Amino acid sequence: MAGETTIQKRGLLLINTGPGKGKTTAALGVAMRALGSGMRVLVLQFLKGSWDYGELHVAENFNGNFEIRQLGRGFIKVGGAETDPEDIRLVLEAWRTSAEAIASGEWDLIVLDEILYAIGYGLLDAGNVAAVLRNRPEMLHVILTGRNAPPELVELADTVTSMSEVKHAYTKGILAQRGIEF
Ligand code: ATP
Ligand code: MG
Repeated sequence: MAGETTIQKRGLLLINTGPGKGKTTAALGVAMRALGSGMRVLVLQFLKGSWDYGELHVAENFNGNFEIRQLGRGFIKVGGAETDPEDIRLVLEAWRTSAEAIASGEWDLIVLDEILYAIGYGLLDAGNVAAVLRNRPEMLHVILTGRNAPPELVELADTVTSMSEVKHAYTKGILAQRGIEF
């Protein structure tokens, strides 16, 4: 459009949300693309912890340029007064780790995987997250994943994709398959 400035190079904020499969795996696809472009990639996984995901083993092969850290327990008990204090503690610690990594200038892409679930469960404040993301280093790309992205993060983001479920094997009773789901 006439009169509009074209921005050449900058860090983007992306959100992968929605009820369909593909939020985390799309972020890992971008991670692969970024690594192939010589970038340094950090994936911080909120809530995840006990499953042996295939991607954890891929990260071992990138000489420190690709790190995936699981910062949860792999399950979570939520629901008002029933929220386990340990889950609250782990999420707040994961957020502190995230904010430090964002400010560190060490990474070109940071994926905050499942962070939108932590916000959705009321364990993390969307406003705090938005404030840190707004002040991040100019060239840092960040991807947030999880269902139900809150409006203020959608507003802040540059690219937001909602995965819609057309079909999922699970509804036919097919359990999670190695290499596809984990
Ligand atoms: P993936 O990690 O496969 O990209 P995702 O990040 O979009 O999935 P999550 O909400 O993080 O989805 O849940 C991860 C697990 O739940 C995966 O095993 C995935 O296959 C499964 N899953 C995702 N969407 C659905 C759905 N609509 N119905 C049933 N299971 C689902
Ligand atoms: Mg996911």
